[in-house]
Amino acid sequence: MNKFLYLDNAATTKIAPEVVEAMLPYFTEHYGNPSSVYTFAAGNKEAVSVQRDIIAETLGAKSNEIYFTAGGSEADNWALKAAAEAYGEKGRHIITTKIEHHAILHTAEYLEKKGFEVTYLDVDEYGKVKLEELKNAIRPDTILISVMFANNEIGVIEPVKEIGAIAKEHGILFHTDAVQAYGQLPINVDECGIDMLSASGHKLNGPKGIGFLYIRKGVKIRSFIHGGAQERKRRAGTENVPGIIGMGAAAKRAADTRELRVKTETEVRDYLIERVLKEIPYTRLNGHRTDRLPNNANFSFRFIEGESLLIMLDNKGICASSGSACTSGSLDPSHVLLAIGLPHEIAHGSLRLTINEEITKEDIDYVVENLKDIVERLRNMSPLYEDFIKKQK
Ligand SMILES: *Cc1c(COP(=O)(O)O)cnc(C)c1O
Repeated sequence: MNKFLYLDNAATTKIAPEVVEAMLPYFTEHYGNPSSVYTFAAGNKEAVSVQRDIIAETLGAKSNEIYFTAGGSEADNWALKAAAEAYGEKGRHIITTKIEHHAILHTAEYLEKKGFEVTYLDVDEYGKVKLEELKNAIRPDTILISVMFANNEIGVIEPVKEIGAIAKEHGILFHTDAVQAYGQLPINVDECGIDMLSASGHKLNGPKGIGFLYIRKGVKIRSFIHGGAQERKRRAGTENVPGIIGMGAAAKRAADTRELRVKTETEVRDYLIERVLKEIPYTRLNGHRTDRLPNNANFSFRFIEGESLLIMLDNKGICASSGSACTSGSLDPSHVLLAIGLPHEIAHGSLRLTINEEITKEDIDYVVENLKDIVERLRNMSPLYEDFIKKQK
C-alpha cells in the first residue's frame, strides 16, 4: 500500500495548526492598518510589537533589532546590499562561502558587478568553513563576513561562534543566514558575535512570505524599501500582520517544542542514516555525521541519476529532493556537493531527505525498503554499474 511521506522539510514545512489559528482573526476581524490612529487598529500595532518581543527573546536580542521582511531571500539581500552600501567607503571586500544559498551567492555576484570584491571560501569534506582560511582571507578593506548557520542541502552546522569571534577581533560585520537553523538550533546572537541574521517563517512551520532580519543596534544599515515609516523607516510597506502573527507563533512554537522535537528527529534521522549506509552498497553520507541539522540526511548513491530516483520515490508517495530546489530542473550538480569535493557523477546521484517530528521509524522502514529496491533497479539499468561489477569479479 502506498503511503504519503513528506520528506522535504528543508524546502518548506507544513504550517502548524496553532499557527494558522493565531493568524486567522487577523484576516477576518483585526484587519486594521497598524499605522492608523483609531482604537480598532491600535490592537494590531500592539500585536506586531508582541511578535517582535517573542522573536527577539528567542535570539537573546532586543525587540528593536528585529525587522520583518517578506522571507529569507529578502533578509539575505538586504543584509548584503545594505551593508555594502553603508560600509562601501570603508572597504569593498566581502567574504562568504561556496556553499551558501543562492539568495546569498547571487546577491554577492550582483555586488561584484557593482565593484565589490568577493572571496568565496572553500569548505572541508564535510562542508565546514576552515577557520585558518577565513583568517587568511581577511584584508584591511574587508567589511562583511557572511556564513550560513547551517546548510540547507547537507545539513552541516558551521562553527558560527568561532567565525563571530574572528569577525569581531577584526572589526568586521558578521551576517549569518540562519534560515535552516532558526527553530532547530539554539541561537544567541551575543554568544555567537552575530551582527545580522536572516530567518524565514515557512521553514519552521510558519507561513510563507514572511521572515526577518536581525540587525544589531549600532550597525549602520540602509533602508531596503523606501516609503512609509514601518520597521523603523528601514523597510517600508504596510505590515503583513497575519504573516507577522504567524512568524511569532511559529517562533514561539519552535522554541517551546525544540528539545523534544530535536531528540525525536535526531533518533529517527540516525536510524535512517544507519540503515541506508548499511543496506545499500556504494553509498555515502554527505555532510558531517554529528554536526548536522537534526532533520537532515543527504546521500550519494553511485551509478544513479538523482532525478530518476526522485521520480521513482514520488511514485511510492515519497517527496524528496536531490539538493536545492533552485537547482533542480537544471542539469548542473549542486554547488554544495561540488564544494565538498564530490566528482560530478557522484554528485548527480544524490538524495536529500529532511524529516519532521511526525516521521516515525516505521515510516523510515517504508522509505528504506523502497529506496533499496529503486536503487537496485536503477543500477541494473546502468552500463557504468555493469562495467564496474564485471571489473570487481
Ligand atoms: C529557504 C532558504 C532561504 C530562502 O528563504 P525564503 O523565505 O524561501 O526566501 C535562504 N537561505 C536558506 C539557507 C534557505 O534554506
